[in-house]
Formats: sequence, C-alpha cells, structure tokens
Amino acid sequence: MRILIWFRNDLRLRDHEPLWNALKSSAQPIPVYCFDPRQFGETSFGFDKTGAIRARFLRESVMELRESLRSRGSDLLVRAGEPEVVVPELALALNCEAVYFHQETMSEEVAIESQLERRLDSLGVRHRSFWGATLHQPEALPFSVAQIPELFTQFRKQVEADAEVAEPLPAPDRLPALPDLDRGECPTLERLGLEIPAADPRAVQTFKGGETEGIKRLQTYIWEKDRLRVYKETRNGMLNPDDSSKLSPWLAVGCLSPRYVRAQAARYEAERVKNDSTYWLVFELLWRDYFRWICAKHGDRVFRISGLRGLKLPWKEDWPRFELWRQGQTGYPLVDASMQELRATGYMSNRGRQNVASFLTKNLGINWQMGAEWFESRLIDYDVCSNWGNWNYTAGVGNDARGFRFFNILKQSKDYDPKGDYVRHWLPQLANIPGEQIHSPWKLAQSDQKRYGVRLGVDYPAPIVDLFASAKANEQLYNRACA
Ligand SMILES: Cc1cc2nc3c(=O)[nH]c(=O)nc-3n(C[C@H](O)[C@H](O)[C@H](O)COP(=O)(O)OP(=O)(O)OC[C@H]3O[C@@H](n4cnc5c(N)ncnc54)[C@H](O)[C@@H]3O)c2cc1C
Repeated sequence: MRILIWFRNDLRLRDHEPLWNALKSSAQPIPVYCFDPRQFGETSFGFDKTGAIRARFLRESVMELRESLRSRGSDLLVRAGEPEVVVPELALALNCEAVYFHQETMSEEVAIESQLERRLDSLGVRHRSFWGATLHQPEALPFSVAQIPELFTQFRKQVEADAEVAEPLPAPDRLPALPDLDRGECPTLERLGLEIPAADPRAVQTFKGGETEGIKRLQTYIWEKDRLRVYKETRNGMLNPDDSSKLSPWLAVGCLSPRYVRAQAARYEAERVKNDSTYWLVFELLWRDYFRWICAKHGDRVFRISGLRGLKLPWKEDWPRFELWRQGQTGYPLVDASMQELRATGYMSNRGRQNVASFLTKNLGINWQMGAEWFESRLIDYDVCSNWGNWNYTAGVGNDARGFRFFNILKQSKDYDPKGDYVRHWLPQLANIPGEQIHSPWKLAQSDQKRYGVRLGVDYPAPIVDLFASAKANEQLYNRACA
C-alpha cells in the first residue's frame, strides 16, 4: 500500500505525524513537495511574495529533506505546480491509497487543502490531515479553538495549567525505496524569477535551510554555547548571534517542530539548569502558538486593515515616506540600522521589529499592512500567523492591543544599544560618532559633523518626522477611533 506524503511547512523527518502514521500502517510513503507558483507572485502592494533570501532558505530546506530521505533509502519527488492539481494526479498515477499531510491555518492554504480533498474524494483516494504547527494538539487544549482566550496571558495561564505537550516523534531510520519515476528538480532562484542574494558579511548569522542545520543551531545555542541559561537576560540584544535562539527560520518552514525545541529545553532543565531563562524560551514558543490559534479562531480578519479589533483608523498610504522606511533612510539610526539588516539578511531581532513597526505606524501613521507585506516578502522566518498577528499587535489593531503603545525610539536606543554598537555595525557612515551620540546625529554641531566625517542631509538623512509631535498626532487619531 502506498501513501503519498505531501510536505508543506513541515520540512523535516523528526516529529512528522503524517510520515509516522503512514509507516505505522506499513505503507510505502511517497514524499512529495510542490513549488507553488502562487507563492512566488506579488503581494497586494507589489512586493515579491517570497523574496530571494526566504526563497533560498526554503530551497535549501527542500533539498536537505531530499538528502535525508535519500540517506534512508527513499527520495523526495519535487514538482512545480499547484498542489491541489499535482498531488491528486500523482496519487492517481502511482496508485496511492491515501494522501497524508499537515494542515495549515489561513484561507489561502486551507482553500488549497479543501480543493485537494475534493479532487481526492472524486478519485476515491483517502486523505488524512494532521496538526503539527504548535506545541499542543487542538484536542489537548483546555478550550475549543472557537473559545481561545483573546488575551495572551489568559491563554498562557490556562495551557500551562491544563494542557500536556506530547513528546516529539522520532525520525524513521529506514524508508522503503520509491518506484521508478522522475524525481524532479528543485527550481533555481532564477527559475522562480528571483535574483541570487548577495552575502553580507555583517549578517549576525548565516542561516542555511534544512532540518540538519536547524538541529545544529539548536545544539550550538542550547548545548555547546550553553546560552539557554541566560536567554531571558540576553534575548533583547540585537547584535550578538547568541543573544536569542535564532531558531525562527527553521520553525517557520517546519525543519524544527516546536515540540522538538521544547523537548530539548526540558532535557536541558533536567541535565543542566532550570531557571527563568529555560522557562522563557517555552514562554516565547507559546506566543508563537497563541498567534496561530488566534488566527485559527478569527481567520482572515487578521489581514484586514481594521485588524482583529475592527478599529477604523485613517491610515496613510504615503509611498515616499514608506520608501524611506523600507530603505532605512528615516534619520532615526536604530530604525535605519534594523531596516538595513532586514534588507541585507532577511533577519531582524524582535526588539528591532517592534521598533520599526511602531515607527511606521505610530510615528508615520502609515498603513500597517504595507509593513506587514514588506516583512512577508523579506523575513527569512516569515510565518503568516506570527507576522500578521504581531503586526496587528504593534499597530494597535490586535485583539490583545493595549492602547496606543508607542516605542520611544530614543529611549529604546539607549536601553538596548547603549554604546551604539548595533547602529555602528549597520550604518558605517555614522561609525565615528562616539558613544550614545550616534543615536541622535541631528544634534551634532557642524564642527562635530566634520570631526566625525558625517554631513547631515548628505551622508545621512535628517529625521523625517519629529518623534514626539508625530506620535502625539497619531495618538489623538487613535484615541478618537477608540472612543
Ligand atoms: C512586527 C513583527 C513581525 C514578526 N514576524 C514574525 C514572523 O514572520 N515569523 C516569526 O517567527 N516571528 C515573527 N515575529 C516574532 C519575533 O520577532 C521572532 O520570532 C524572533 O525575533 C525570532 O528570533 P529568535 O528565533 O532568535 O527568537 P527567540 O527570542 O529565540 O524566541 C524563540 C522562538 O519563540 C518564537 N517567538 C519569539 N517571539 C515571538 C513573538 N513575538 N511572536 C511569535 N513567536 C515568537 C519564535 O518561534 C522564536 O524562534 C515578529 C515580531 C514582530 C514585532
């Protein structure tokens, strides 16, 4: 008996329920991955839906999955096309009894699943879907998806008290060989319509796709460098690769399952140390889960301009200023350094993301969807629920939004980049400005500008808005909308 395993955002062999269940029923699994052309189109504001850095990571992850399958005696079929067409055709051609896959959450992906299931029904091929995106299975939660608490703290407290996380499943040692048929090639970036991204030596870390690479990162961060014991104290750092786990890209494409990461943290607690930091990593994974469940509950409302909260704000579609934000040319060094990092590497720290999102929405008053789509295009760890959920939250239109929470960029710069090292790293034109003065170059007298080799308005822009006046004006609009 053959069962076709359709791989999606679950590019791994460990903790893979569809594969595990196929093997349990003594079936011959036929693994397949489809490069869906719709994923390589444009977003509604005209950005590449999957930018080159993210596409490269995805490609690497698919190729590594193929290698892992080959080393166990199987292989990965790779196809280009719409999965709801390609998968049933393959199932039919290979005489598969069933198709197994992991479920997704949002409408684009769920629509594909529904069409696929309808086609399979009409062909008489069984299908079974599994949930693998979060720590908990839906049935392990102390509430139904429709009753997921709107507030994170409430969600967290209830799952911590009442929900068990299952142990991750092991990877199979050996797999049956595939029948004789064309395996297919992974499309190159050029074939996907993308340019090969240039490597930037300033990147905090080189992210390479694939389960082995994800496990290597986990091994380095948790075990070799022993950084989990200080995670809570360091996680807000922006420059050091080990400030935070940097596991997000592998979690996003499913090279690592959250259960696997949690199990490693639990083992670390048993073997080395259990403290606030070890708890905090799992706490952050619960944020990830929370956004997934909230999206499962509210569906496409998370994409609407009025957000989950349904708040009607007069957002601007100010392209010239958006462009300055996107290019890292706002005149606020912390924002600009973060945006340059994103552009060059596809990664930005959580602290950076919060600041740039706050600046776009609370200072520039620009439509947050434009920012969310830019992140979708660029982030190497793009995850639909985490991205759109966090943008809802920082734009103040989320279900758990706590009023007009404006990030004071200057205070944030002093708190999280006190010596200006992060800014110096990404904005070389400001590198000679000493200490924290680097965070407010507009205050430099002409003589200082000369001394530090920077001409304001020539080498580096003057601020595009007044930080406090712009926040105040947007706060008034916000409060009016909430009234
Ligand atoms: C505007 C905005 C957009 C974001 N978009 C994404 C996105 O598309 N994909 C994504 O994975 N994260 C997103 N985040 C959350 C967070 O910034 C990243 O998960 C984190 O920076 C990844 O680095 P790390 O793996 O070192 O995190 P760590 O601090 O080591 O955290 C461990 C893991 O917990 C999860 N996590 C941590 N913080 C959050 C959070 N706030 N929300 C959800 N999960 C979290 C991630 O899976 C992360 O890998 C976004 C945050 C903001 C403010």
